[in-house]
Amino acid sequence: MFVKLCQAFALLQDVIQSVLKKCAAYQAAFSQVGRNWSLSVFNILQDFTCRLYATRSQTKEVNELRYQLFRAKNGDVESGQLPPCEDCLHMHALRANYQTAIWRRCLENTPSIPNPSDGHGWTDRDGHLEISWMTGPPAPDVVLEFMSCKCITVCKLPGCRCLANGLECMAMCKLQYCDNMTELEEQECEDENTTDDDND
Ligand SMILES: [Zn+2]
Ligand SMILES: [Zn+2]
Repeated sequence: MFVKLCQAFALLQDVIQSVLKKCAAYQAAFSQVGRNWSLSVFNILQDFTCRLYATRSQTKEVNELRYQLFRAKNGDVESGQLPPCEDCLHMHALRANYQTAIWRRCLENTPSIPNPSDGHGWTDRDGHLEISWMTGPPAPDVVLEFMSCKCITVCKLPGCRCLANGLECMAMCKLQYCDNMTELEEQECEDENTTDDDND
């Protein structure tokens, strides 16, 4: 397992290096990361991310590439095989820029560092920093309503589709009670069951 993981990581490093070496614009963009507290090179980083997932494609937008890859494989694709959506990638790039900006100032005595929850990819929840994975919902409401898992005894990774996609289980899932459910959702399941019984 560990050897396989190392091999996969080495392969990824090779891809990153070969894509980077070929393009001066990517190198210039990476040299800008962390110079300012605001990120100015997101579009090029997005273009670079597209090349990591589809070396020969001309697409420069991750959302468009996700759609193309999904269609090319007739929908038979794990979410990990697709690039992140633009919203997620942007939040990740903001955090990378913020962290790099701190490292770039490591020789300053008292660097002036903005609050990480001030638009740098984190949220302050009761004094604890939490990663803001995305700013919008993971999918349109109508799609979310139809997403559910088919776990039989317990919802856990890697098998549970809801957990794997960072979603809470809903009334549509096979298991009616699991740890991956909010209290509100459990209540809704209960209500639904009661209505079902009434109809029988
Ligand atoms: Zn599940
Ligand atoms: Zn579920």
